[in-house]
Amino acid sequence: MQTISADYIYVGNGEVLKNYAIQFDEKGVIKAVLSPKEYAEKNIQPVHYPGALCPGFINAHCHLELSHLKGKIRKHLGVNAFIDALIPLQNYVPSEQEIAQAIVDMAKQGIVAVGDISNTKHTFRIKEKLSQIHIHTFIESFGLHPDKAQEKFFEALTLFHELKSQHKSLTPHAPYSVSKSLLKELLGYSCEERHILSYHLLESDTERQLFEKKQGKMYERLLEWFGNMDFFEPDTQNPVDEWIAHFPFDPAFPKSMMHILFVHNTFLNETELKKLMEHFAKSYFVFCPNANLYIENHLPDVDMFIRNKVKICLGTDSLASNDQLSILAEMQTLYKHFPHLDLNMLISWATLNGAEALYIDDKYGSIAVNKQPGILWLKNTTTHLNESTSVSRII
Ligand SMILES: [Zn+2]
Repeated sequence: MQTISADYIYVGNGEVLKNYAIQFDEKGVIKAVLSPKEYAEKNIQPVHYPGALCPGFINAHCHLELSHLKGKIRKHLGVNAFIDALIPLQNYVPSEQEIAQAIVDMAKQGIVAVGDISNTKHTFRIKEKLSQIHIHTFIESFGLHPDKAQEKFFEALTLFHELKSQHKSLTPHAPYSVSKSLLKELLGYSCEERHILSYHLLESDTERQLFEKKQGKMYERLLEWFGNMDFFEPDTQNPVDEWIAHFPFDPAFPKSMMHILFVHNTFLNETELKKLMEHFAKSYFVFCPNANLYIENHLPDVDMFIRNKVKICLGTDSLASNDQLSILAEMQTLYKHFPHLDLNMLISWATLNGAEALYIDDKYGSIAVNKQPGILWLKNTTTHLNESTSVSRII
């Protein structure tokens, strides 16, 4: 049994403990959380860490299969030119070495669990072999032409069955890349199977223009891609309304019970946010600030999400749109742009909220007896993050 203490312990659930100690066994399972009085009475002398301790980070959004694309795409292209640049690069398959390295690097940065998107099986073998971090794989499907819906659905379903892990879901990609019929197939299956969903939402304003008026850069790119866009006939004029309109009705398992990770939300407005909250009580809003700056050079309206008291999580997105896979770096970026953010709140985004979203909060996300969340040491910080704050994993 080991006992450690710190100036500040960020529990993950919003609590902060000053000079407390944590006792854990050789497997990293927490056995006790002790106040200074309690450990003095028990005559325990903890190993003291100056600075702060917190639970292991949860990276709620990543694409490990793009780990070979670091630095390959220029910054600030906007999402449409980014996708155009990404498509030919996807012909290059990442090596297992590159994927393994990305997983090891994430673990070094204090990430204990990741929600990882797979459009292919390129990462499957490595994910099944490496156990440094918990991986929930979202098998993501896309296909905008309605004629391809069946084919795309079965492709994704085959991939889903191919992955030997119980931590997996089948999920649609984004409003602009999934036809109504494919969306219905995917949601029908995933809701029935109670899967966690992950949906790229409003990463670009051009996504809204596509639905509103069938115009804008995204519309033009799709028009060029498909030749004509007559087949694109959404039932509504807004990507959020469209999602709500096609969500299946199941009285045995209402949509308010489904865990849904809405990813990016860079251009989500307050009306849309309120609609999502009203329909989906278990919504998690994932920010990937470094990727947003890399691609669109724009950040979500963070204060609007705080004001509406929604659950926020953090993600890194992939190395195609980020210089590193580090949740601390995401927090530092948010802090730089929103200096009034509270470190305690940021840590709950980076830990417990992500663990809840991925249904792993029985083990991860907060410092509590019987959990095994990993413990991180944040150096050069107590109540504020700065550029010299670094992270190392204690257990
Ligand atoms: Zn993504």
